[in-house]
Amino acid sequence: MSNESLANLLKEERRFAPPAGLAAEANVTAEAYERAKADRLGFWAEQARRLSWATEPTETLDWSNPPFAKWFADGKLNVAYNCVDRHVENGLGDRVALHFEGEPGDSRSITYAELQREVSRAANALLELGVQAGDRVAIYLPMIPEAVVSMLACARIGAPHSLVFGGFSADALATRINDADARVVITADGGYRRGKPSALKPAVDEALTRPGTENVRSVLVVRRTGQEGIDWTEGRDVWWHELVERQSDQHTPEAFDAEHPLFILYTSGTTGKPKGILHTTGGYLTQASYTHHAVFDLKPETDVFWCTADVGWVTGHSYIVYGPLSNGATEVLYEGTPDSPHQGRWWEIVQKYGVTILYTAPTAIRAAMKWGDDIPAKFDLSSLRILGSVGEPINPEAWVWYRKHIGADTTPVVDTWWQTETGTMMISPLPGVTETKPGSAQVPLPGISATVVDDDGNEVPNGHGGYLILTEPWPSMLRTIWGDDQRYLDTYWSRFEGRYFAGDGAKKDEDGDIWLLGRVDDVMLVSGHNISTTEVESALVSHPKVAEAAVVGATDPQTTQAICAFVILRSGVDAEAEGLTEELRAHVAKQLGPIAKPKRILPVAELPKTRSGKIMRRLLRDVAENRTLGDVTTLTDSSVMDLIQAKLPATP
Ligand code: ATP
Ligand code: MG
Repeated sequence: MSNESLANLLKEERRFAPPAGLAAEANVTAEAYERAKADRLGFWAEQARRLSWATEPTETLDWSNPPFAKWFADGKLNVAYNCVDRHVENGLGDRVALHFEGEPGDSRSITYAELQREVSRAANALLELGVQAGDRVAIYLPMIPEAVVSMLACARIGAPHSLVFGGFSADALATRINDADARVVITADGGYRRGKPSALKPAVDEALTRPGTENVRSVLVVRRTGQEGIDWTEGRDVWWHELVERQSDQHTPEAFDAEHPLFILYTSGTTGKPKGILHTTGGYLTQASYTHHAVFDLKPETDVFWCTADVGWVTGHSYIVYGPLSNGATEVLYEGTPDSPHQGRWWEIVQKYGVTILYTAPTAIRAAMKWGDDIPAKFDLSSLRILGSVGEPINPEAWVWYRKHIGADTTPVVDTWWQTETGTMMISPLPGVTETKPGSAQVPLPGISATVVDDDGNEVPNGHGGYLILTEPWPSMLRTIWGDDQRYLDTYWSRFEGRYFAGDGAKKDEDGDIWLLGRVDDVMLVSGHNISTTEVESALVSHPKVAEAAVVGATDPQTTQAICAFVILRSGVDAEAEGLTEELRAHVAKQLGPIAKPKRILPVAELPKTRSGKIMRRLLRDVAENRTLGDVTTLTDSSVMDLIQAKLPATP
């Protein structure tokens, strides 16, 4: 960004008060903000008591060597004990932990007592494979119960896990195995994706031929799809059903230091080479548990929670595994895609299990919008009481659609901002407290300090935009980038001395609420104005013919950069219709002002996205500027880029 701070163009006036009933019974009320402000560390020390510690911590934060934080450093605990065993000891063994729904329609409900036995068996199996506390275990699995069991088994024996999305290639897997120096890989023969078995084991076999993966001594393979003829390396490969099932279902968890590494997770790679983010035990679990309790108002006796993310993404770590299970929740785990075998599959699952809290991403909401309102309307969604969003800025139009068509126009929508690096949620409305604004994450959670600053690091006044920063350490913060302390310092702590630079643009509105405006790297500079990609995209999506949009700034001799928009039209709209481009340009000019009017608009069938559903604007920028494409390894489907490039006329 240049010295000019980020322009504030979008005006969104709609407001939604919390439902009175929810507010009256809410787990967390407005008082929490005051308490946390008066004594931030005392507040977090209190939240740490949500957990069962083998040794209670007496210290809260050690910030003597910033930015290397230690939280609750003299405490000891076991994460798996906190997520499983203690609920069984508290008489909740018969409560369902996971309702697993396979894509082909197979389903299985697992109680906390069963989960305890499965996790114990898996922990014993890893020990038999020689895994010791501190050894890294790579997990490359579909969304099946064994993924959750494997993570908890690793946590139980103190072996940090490193999940790799099941959709990643052998290359991406090899890089991550190498970087984390994993000793064991847990995988499956395959998983179900869009009605077909999709193989996983061959990618592991291939990855393990690459240099740097030699230290992997065992590959533990779950049989999921039963494919014939998978390659087998004797002495290295072992079937889950042979090794795990013959283990004892008793295992005594050992307590680890609060700062013992819990997992490494690579960022989704939207902006460049993925970073191995390191999270540790006590602070991470404290904030995962607290935020899940506060932001979703979880009532574990009655709620049915469903987070649709993949466990291979941080959202899956914190809000499928560690947050919900530490809170004793009942939750849904779904293996497949939202449109398999039909576009109402998610809504069918909500109806089947009586889901009360749904947590998903803007990309999925925009897809559902594109497929049509009539699809969710066919299902009984009346059990839903809270809806959440994460992963990208949510366009106000998508937010309002979500509330109206999924939430019966009554459920609060919580737009939660956070990152792999922050570990858990940081900025979000509270459903029983906050009057919500479509498109805004609004307020830092109790105990979190965030603000927006200009180029010089000065806080911007209300009504202005700039860079989002976090001004105080928080319990679930990353501790470093695995094996690269210098990159940790450079990436997050050097832009604004002593404060955490998130890499996202944001603005404060007239009330001081925070609106996320996309990546700082993506901000466009047009005739001396910094313009956010998010605002232009949201203006396009608010046009009834547009389902989704991605905009980038392409080098332009007159205006420095010119706005180039790629749009996906709603079903039934003719991309070739005369005047469509002009109509969309005029709409943006009317919404945001002439400065934000795209110079070019290109209707496309798909947008390049990461496996977690985020738009990869840097690739579109490469296309718009006729450059060779950068790193595409984290893309869901790289053929999307060929299609877009084929459509694009040479730059005028
Ligand atoms: P990389 O850091 O490798 O480029 P990534 O940033 O996509 O990958 P994640 O940690 O999964 O990897 O994503 C965090 C980012 O997602 C945030 O920095 C922000 O840009 C975006 N994001 C997440 N939630 C929201 C939200 N509610 N509103 C706006 N942006 C969000
Ligand atoms: Mg990032």
